[in-house]
Amino acid sequence: MDPATPSAETNAYLRNDGTLDADTFAEDIASVVCGYPDCDPDVLLGWAAGRLAEQATGDEAAPLAVGLYAARTYPYWYVRHPAVVRRMIDAVRTASAALDAADCPHLEGDGHPGLDAADTYTEELADLIPLLSDEQRWDEEIEDMETLNAEPRDGWLCPGFLAGLSREVLDDLERAIQRITEPPDTDHLDARYLSEDGRADIVRITRDLGDGRWRDPKDPTGTVGVWAARRLIAGARPEERLPLLLLVCAAARRCAWEQVAPAAVHVYREALATVDAAPLAAPCPHDDGHPTAAVPDRSRMALVRALRAPDAHADEVDDTVEVDQEAVRCPKYAAEQARDALDYSRRYLRLDEE
Ligand SMILES: [Zn+2]
Ligand SMILES: [Zn+2]
Repeated sequence: MDPATPSAETNAYLRNDGTLDADTFAEDIASVVCGYPDCDPDVLLGWAAGRLAEQATGDEAAPLAVGLYAARTYPYWYVRHPAVVRRMIDAVRTASAALDAADCPHLEGDGHPGLDAADTYTEELADLIPLLSDEQRWDEEIEDMETLNAEPRDGWLCPGFLAGLSREVLDDLERAIQRITEPPDTDHLDARYLSEDGRADIVRITRDLGDGRWRDPKDPTGTVGVWAARRLIAGARPEERLPLLLLVCAAARRCAWEQVAPAAVHVYREALATVDAAPLAAPCPHDDGHPTAAVPDRSRMALVRALRAPDAHADEVDDTVEVDQEAVRCPKYAAEQARDALDYSRRYLRLDEE
C-alpha cells in the first residue's frame, strides 16, 4: 500500500479536520513498541513515515518523528516485505533533509532531550506523543512522566532534534532492508563443514544448528541453515541430500521462533523448491504415514545424524532414534517435509499478503 494514500486504517490517525489524532496514533505506536500490536504495524509505520515527509516542518513533525523513533527496531525484526521498508526509507530520507534544512538554535544540540532513559522506556516515549501535540496537556501531564519529565518541550519540538531522531530511524531501516534482502555470507563455513575429500560434515552441522529449543537460539542469523541450503542448491552428493534437506526443513521450521533474517529464509525456500514434489500425488507403500510423528522435535537432529553416510564421527555419535529407515528414505517423505517447510516459511515471510 502506498502510505500516502488514505485508507480506512490510516484515516483513523486523522481527526475530522484532517490533522493528526495524536492519541490514536500514540496508542497504536505503544502497542507496537510493547510487542502486541493493535494494528497492522506495516501500515502504521509506513503511513507515519509518509506523513512525516509531508509535514516535516509542521506541527505534526514531533509526534510523528518521536513515534517512528519509538518503534524504530520493529521493521528490523518483523517487517518482511522489502517494498514496505524501501518506501519508509524514501519518506524518512525526505523528512530528514527537510528537518536538517530547518533552523536549530541549539549550539551542538545543547537543549535537545537526552534519550538514554527514553531508549530504555520506549513505552513512555509513546505516551509522550499526545503531549507533543498539545501544549496544555504537556503542562498538565508532563510531571507524571517518570523518566522524560526533565526535558524541555522546546527541545522535543526542535527540527534539529527531530533530524537526529530521523537519522536514527533511517539507520535502523537500512539495517532492516539489508536483513530482508541480503542473505548471509557462508563461504567461511566451507572450511568448517567440508571434509578434505569434499563431503559435508553432517554431524558437525547438526551440532551447530542445535535442536532449536529453549531460550538459546544457536543459529539466529540463519547462517548454518543457509550453508546447508546452498549445498543442496549447488548440488550436494546424493547421500547428503536427505540429511541436508531435513536440516534445512528444521531451520525453516524455527524461523519464527528465532526471528531469522528474511533473506536467509528465502535461501531455505530456494533449496526446498529443488525437492521433487511429484511423489506427493502418487501412492507409496507407507499407508500409515511416514515417521515424522514418531520423531519428536527434540530428536530431529538425531534423525539427521542417523541418516548420514558413514563418516569419521562414527564413534562419537551416541544418540539413536528408532525409525523405519526405509520409510524415511521414501521420496514422498522428502516431498512432504519440503512442502510443510515451504508452507511454514511462506506464512513467516507473509508471501500470501503480497
Ligand atoms: Zn535544536
Ligand atoms: Zn512413503
